[in-house]
Amino acid sequence: MFENLSERLSGVFDRLTKQGALNDEDVKTALREVRVALLEADVSLPVARDFVKAVQDKATGQSVTKSVTPGQQVVKIVHDELVHVLAGEGEPGKLKIDNAPAPILMVGLQGSGKTTTTAKLAKRLKEREGKKVLMASLDVNRPAAMEQLQILGVQIGVDTLPIVKGEQPVAIAKRAKMQAALGGYDVYMLDTAGRLSIDEELMQQVAAVRDVANPRETLLVVDGLTGQDAVHTAENFDARIGITGVVLTRMDGDGRGGAALSMRAVTGKPIKFVGLGEKMDALETFEPERVAGRILG
Ligand code: GDP
Repeated sequence: MFENLSERLSGVFDRLTKQGALNDEDVKTALREVRVALLEADVSLPVARDFVKAVQDKATGQSVTKSVTPGQQVVKIVHDELVHVLAGEGEPGKLKIDNAPAPILMVGLQGSGKTTTTAKLAKRLKEREGKKVLMASLDVNRPAAMEQLQILGVQIGVDTLPIVKGEQPVAIAKRAKMQAALGGYDVYMLDTAGRLSIDEELMQQVAAVRDVANPRETLLVVDGLTGQDAVHTAENFDARIGITGVVLTRMDGDGRGGAALSMRAVTGKPIKFVGLGEKMDALETFEPERVAGRILG
């Protein structure tokens, strides 16, 4: 079974200290453990490699070898480095949504939790920030998805743009924009269509919607349990559409949070929120400390 990383690290160092003096080679050996643990937590190889290098530099600088509790010290360095990589700049959970009506574009693959997240976020903006929010579904290929958003809207007390059969995504986006201005909304959220995988048609459609809406925030919703796939999805969407942040869903599942680390390191985009369940309240601000703790075990 998987032994957690902090125990594993302390264990390795404690064994080494019992043998007497600790040298740089010992530290290196122990850091291999960090690399393995990161890979097991689904962090990509290059990211794990860079990470271990950074930890090694710090460990050497802080003369871990002379410490009486080298294990604990390395665990702390690893923890701090995890938080450093995960945090990035900007305040997690904060969105640029002044200048009403502010458009938020929600993008992602089908099944990632996009529609659920749109509603969760709308509820949060309404309740915590007192915003008047309008939601619109642009998923013209799946009428069920449009109805799903409408049902969620009723449930959370947030308005949705009335569905007009046969209307195309760009036209819906324009109508949402107009309705948001006329209705005095602070924010309007566009829930774009998803596909099971990234395809050219999807990207063209989302790009066309982006061009008419000129979104203040473009949030990519990705399934946090899909690990490396989530990172590839983010790279793709960012290259084609330009995202301003990421929402990692299913963080209530048994994933170890490695996707979050790779996501930050590879895309450089902030993780703004995490989804922690199916309920409308199960959305939280991304907290680097918590995810670092989860990776460390
Ligand atoms: P979409 O196709 O991307 O719009 O995905 P949906 O919003 O319809 O979500 C797909 C399924 O995932 C639904 O059953 C949601 O309730 C569920 N879901 C969404 N977010 C989370 C989450 O953070 N945790 C869990 N456990 N389930 C989620």
